[in-house]
Amino acid sequence: MINVTKPLLPTQKSLSIKLKEVLKSGHITNNGPKHFELEQALKKYLEVENLSIFSNGTLALMIAIKAMGLKGEIITTPFTFAATVSTISWLDIKPVFCDIDPNTMCIDPDKIEALITKDTSAIIPVHVYGNICDVEKIDAIAKKHNLKVIYDAAHAFGAKINKTAVGNYGDVSMFSFHATKLFNTIEGGCLTFKDPALKEKAELFKNFGIKSESEIVDIGINSKMNEIQSIFGILNLELIANERLKRAKIKNIYDNTLKKIKGITINQNQSEIHSLQYYPIRIEKELYGRSRDQLHALLLQCGISARRYFYPLLSNCDPYKNLASADKKNLPIANQVSEEVLCLPFYGQLKISEIKMICSRIKSFQKTIN
Ligand SMILES: *Cc1c(COP(=O)(O)O)cnc(C)c1O
Repeated sequence: MINVTKPLLPTQKSLSIKLKEVLKSGHITNNGPKHFELEQALKKYLEVENLSIFSNGTLALMIAIKAMGLKGEIITTPFTFAATVSTISWLDIKPVFCDIDPNTMCIDPDKIEALITKDTSAIIPVHVYGNICDVEKIDAIAKKHNLKVIYDAAHAFGAKINKTAVGNYGDVSMFSFHATKLFNTIEGGCLTFKDPALKEKAELFKNFGIKSESEIVDIGINSKMNEIQSIFGILNLELIANERLKRAKIKNIYDNTLKKIKGITINQNQSEIHSLQYYPIRIEKELYGRSRDQLHALLLQCGISARRYFYPLLSNCDPYKNLASADKKNLPIANQVSEEVLCLPFYGQLKISEIKMICSRIKSFQKTIN
């Protein structure tokens, strides 16, 4: 079976050297030296001033929302992974769905303002697949209406737009370091902050609200990254440059082959430096002769596990489908894209022969109707 991704892994040798250091120190969690080292390395890599690492991206996002004191309603996209919206609801805030742009598949900034009410406190856009949102328009809307912006940058590790690293836009960005992401710490994530005071607050929440040995100053939770995860991160960060090169080559082969197939649309690459997190294609049934779901099933039969990210659309799922903003009439593009998109296997270790096989299957399944 060819999976949609394979986690980046350090060599056993490099891991055992670092592991020995951790075991020798006896310091396995609670802001140890490896935690510190990873934070410093990530600050440099992501080109941001204020950064804090967490046990996973979901808790990081939840803590960001909490630390910013957001309330009422948050405008977001239904075309995302469950965690973007569940964190909002988990904090008893009402998610308000906005439709997406057909090219970037990120939130459509021209549809945001109509959704703003007196209860709106923030916008949480997602850099879907590593395509960067229209950050300038979004930030301008936020400024005009006095709203906060948290970017879900789970897919956008290392991406840049306007020569600026993506974590510098908005008030906060969240990156996920889950095993399926470009960069992983097995599980993990980070927040990047415009305001250093907000970082302090988030770090308080990360550690039970404990400020010092004798002071508990807020109601916190536990979302610390441990030293073993941190060494995974330190070692994987050394492998990222090579992984990106390999993915860029794979993307080229896919692009050049697939763009010639009738009914297949390749991703419109938006940012000048793309994260290369996923390789999504769109299947237009009328032209390709088969639906996305048919192609997905046919590929599975050949041992190719492509994934329908993001299907089902969150606005059609039980927890959210009764929200007024979940009405399909308000979300035509998101509903359409969710039925058309398919993420193909995409990771550095994918062999040329495998890429060619995947492409030739997609080509041979095409069934042009007269
Ligand atoms: C992976 C992901 C998350 C959650 O990250 P975890 O680290 O797995 O908690 C959030 N949003 C998006 C868009 C994701 O893909």
